[in-house]
Amino acid sequence: MTTPQREHFDAVVVGAGFAGMYMLHRLRQQGLKVVVLEAGDDVGGTWYWNRYPGARCDVESMEYSFSFDEDLQQAWRWSERYAGQPEILRYINHVADRLDLRRDIRMNTRATDAEFDPQTNRWTVLTQSGQSLQARFCIMATGCLSNAQVPQIPGLADFKGRWFHTGFWPKEGVDFTGKRVGIIGTGSTGIQAIPLVAKQAAHLSVFQRTANYSIPLRNGPLTAEAEQAVKQRYAALREQARHSPSGVAGFNVPTRGVLQTDPQEVEQAFQSRWDFGGIGFTRSFNDVLLKTEANTIAREFVVKRMLAPVNDPALRAKLTPTYPIGTKRLCADTGYFEIYNRSNVSLVDIKADPIESITATGLRTQQAHHDLDILIFATGFDAITGALLSVNMRVKGGSDLKTAWADGPRAYLGLMTAGIANLFMITGPGSPSVLSNVVVSVEQHVEWIADCMAHMRAQGINRIEASAHAQQDWGRQVDALANASLLPHTASWYVGANIPGKPRVFMPYMGGVGVFRRTCDEIARQGYTGFELTTVPEAA
Ligand code: NAP
Repeated sequence: MTTPQREHFDAVVVGAGFAGMYMLHRLRQQGLKVVVLEAGDDVGGTWYWNRYPGARCDVESMEYSFSFDEDLQQAWRWSERYAGQPEILRYINHVADRLDLRRDIRMNTRATDAEFDPQTNRWTVLTQSGQSLQARFCIMATGCLSNAQVPQIPGLADFKGRWFHTGFWPKEGVDFTGKRVGIIGTGSTGIQAIPLVAKQAAHLSVFQRTANYSIPLRNGPLTAEAEQAVKQRYAALREQARHSPSGVAGFNVPTRGVLQTDPQEVEQAFQSRWDFGGIGFTRSFNDVLLKTEANTIAREFVVKRMLAPVNDPALRAKLTPTYPIGTKRLCADTGYFEIYNRSNVSLVDIKADPIESITATGLRTQQAHHDLDILIFATGFDAITGALLSVNMRVKGGSDLKTAWADGPRAYLGLMTAGIANLFMITGPGSPSVLSNVVVSVEQHVEWIADCMAHMRAQGINRIEASAHAQQDWGRQVDALANASLLPHTASWYVGANIPGKPRVFMPYMGGVGVFRRTCDEIARQGYTGFELTTVPEAA
């Protein structure tokens, strides 16, 4: 076997979604030599892979986009209030062309291993196709919801029909006409896909393990007036988003609680958020995610309205969620509940009637066999850590990431993990990531990392590592915020509960993107407190 030739860079970035693309742009602006490795055959990350019917962002288009380039944000025109996947992918491609990013992105190139050698102060990143790339810095831009999970159900290999996971949907699409289709999963993805599949398929069987809350999205064309209203004060709105709790300027920042407010006023406020639509609903009051009693009032309001379109009381009962609202990711839908009135849709409650196996001709639950031509897994992701741990990351003669995170992931500010130098993560565990408008969080992390690298160069520093003490302290803050809320008590992907054997740790930072940004900025201003910055001899 021949040893692959090593290529040398200042930084290797893994992933060419929003995060990897912007990281590349920022580092190139500093004159650095950077390469981005991308497993897909084009840019886009989440929006490249998730092409399932109905895929759409539930953060408004004017906010779910890059803010670093005023000309770009003024020139780009969104057609809908909430953009669908094809339009977001067009936008991402437009950005890649505009910034001439592709020349430094290697498509169809999956990183498999990354090793840091403390002697040379270099990372070596290996790819599935046998490339070996060396750099002082390795930056993981692999996304929080990118490691799609197909559950281990016995018999999948025997299935004679076609099956798909929504997180790696075929580019050419899937024709459901005349087919008997089954879908497992009723999270944000399933709730988006189900109405569209139901309208095309001969029959759709929905296999639901947990009933979820969903607020009507109320999507529609983006009018010229609405677009102009944002564009006229885009810079100010972006600044507002950066300092808001969730990275969305259009979300209410609640100052009072349900429990301190007159019930009539509460009802009116909920109604106004319901009419506005979308996932900002739980931001109506500041105690909905903190106090069971407040949460119960919110959930009762939502359940009554969301189930109103369902005619059959038995179906309504099956579709009624029982966990506190907002403690799993809130869903937003377009015509989801109505779909259960159709005669070609059936809902199988797999908590009451569990799946036993997949057969050659369909899916067997304890009580019945469901004949299927197509089976869709809308079963989610190994969130936040899955993609990071899918690359075998280690320090030569030292620790590796899997072992370091055996009891759950810990990362200082979600940026670096102690014991592994010169490895940055964009929106890693312990940062607001999935609890925020992720484009805002991506920009914040990318800019912080780029500034940190510039600072290091200016000071002649070539190694940075999170201190174990600072990481522990940060972990305690992340835990304290989570534990003051209702979120860690629900078995959700936020705590890794969807992955058998995954340690149960609440992963995202709940303090909000504004507070988080100020904390990160202050740490940098004080000379990167909690990070150890050193200058070591290294390979030429
Ligand atoms: P998800 O929220 O994890 O939902 C997965 C669904 O599959 C759940 O209903 C889950 O049931 C079910 N499931 C998982 N494993 C199963 C098994 N072994 N047997 C039976 N059922 C199983 O995944 P997702 O819907 O793909 O969404 C993931 C996240 O992506 C969202 O929460 C959101 O952050 C993001 N997303 C956003 C949008 C948007 O912007 N509109 C759209 C799609 C996704 P349990 O609940 O019982 O585990």
